[in-house]
Amino acid sequence: MMENNIYKDLGISDRVFSFGEKIEAELKDRFEAFDKTAEYNQMKVLNAMREARVSSECFSYASGYGYDDIGRDTLEKVYSICFKTEDALVRPQITCGTHALALALMSNLRPGDELYSPVGRPYDTLEEVIGIRPSRGSLKEYGISYRETDLLPDGSFDYPAIKEAINEKTKLVTIQRSKGYANRPSFSVQKIGELIAFIKDIKPDVICMVDNCYGEFVEDKEPSEVGADMIVGSLIKNPGGGLAPIGGYICGKKECIANAAARLTSPGLAKEVGASLSVMKDFYQGFFLSPTVVNGALKGAVFAANIYEKLGYKCIPDAKESRHDIIQAVILNSPEALKAFCLGIQSAAPVESFVTPEPWDMPGYDSQVIMAAGAFVQGSSIELSADGPLRAPYSVYFQGGLTWYHAKAGILLSLQKLCDANLVKDSQLC
Ligand SMILES: *Cc1c(COP(=O)(O)O)cnc(C)c1O
Repeated sequence: MMENNIYKDLGISDRVFSFGEKIEAELKDRFEAFDKTAEYNQMKVLNAMREARVSSECFSYASGYGYDDIGRDTLEKVYSICFKTEDALVRPQITCGTHALALALMSNLRPGDELYSPVGRPYDTLEEVIGIRPSRGSLKEYGISYRETDLLPDGSFDYPAIKEAINEKTKLVTIQRSKGYANRPSFSVQKIGELIAFIKDIKPDVICMVDNCYGEFVEDKEPSEVGADMIVGSLIKNPGGGLAPIGGYICGKKECIANAAARLTSPGLAKEVGASLSVMKDFYQGFFLSPTVVNGALKGAVFAANIYEKLGYKCIPDAKESRHDIIQAVILNSPEALKAFCLGIQSAAPVESFVTPEPWDMPGYDSQVIMAAGAFVQGSSIELSADGPLRAPYSVYFQGGLTWYHAKAGILLSLQKLCDANLVKDSQLC
């Protein structure tokens, strides 16, 4: 057991610290299992980089049109080898996860087609992309309809209703791996594979896309290895390893990627243009570090669930459940507790530790959101961060941490802030 002296400097009391040490000691086996997955995924990335023949030339600056940008083209090979897809589009011109998803959808759907979600309502920002909430440029404005089927109350797929919903217009099925801001389970890669097999059995030519945000390297397989035609994500989450300063990816079937590339740049130009500027070294190095970074984030998530569940808060996933993404939701039941939690995470940040997070109207979200993030890359949520919409039941979504030690400090400090605000009813602890 460690001495508390150094944690005291962070403002963490002896009692909160010892409570954390006790919880950590109970998690030894689970941490070992995460280490094994990280080791496997490290080899997967390393092999992809060897096979794609990455060289130092790949890190040089490319400007202008970017014809024959070797750094960009080789990185796309690395992603497609690692995620076992025919092709990939990995670009700094894809500005974020929402953009990557919107691009995958808009480029692969045509007027008259229907988009279908068999896993309930997708992530908040996609509501405007689809047109569930009216928005300029939505799929709906282009005559693309949308249908969804809710999950069953226990969080499982409603197979009979899914069978019913798939029709002659269904062109693309979107499956969100991580729960996002919903209180439902995240899906294992195996479960996603079963769902895709069921859907392809009904309609073999339907495109199955997986929103892979926060899921990369959590398991030893990605959804593209169990039948997904496209997987899509953000580089300021898992696969950027905390180093990528911007970007998104779409990996998948040749045809799907060709459509996405034609839409990102221009028909006829497609993947041939788009200079990588000076971000390539960080893209490669971040991808290389990603399995280790995800490992630390997973340990932080499980540590948080075990701490908060012990104090009587409902956690999703719960303290014992298997993990399919790096997000930990804790239902805090009051706006005061949500704010105190976020204050703790913010105080533990290496950047802007001295600011107090306040709720704000964030673009793309329909209720106010509070966010704690003191990140090297603005808004990066593979770095230690917490956020939640200001609506009942006041769930906080905690994620990231470039190292396990930082995640641990953040969680202990969140608990300390809840104690300081008299929001934890445990006189032994606070
Ligand atoms: C973060 C996230 C998105 C959107 O990504 P941004 O980079 O925030 O635009 C979409 N889907 C899921 C599941 C996410 O976690």
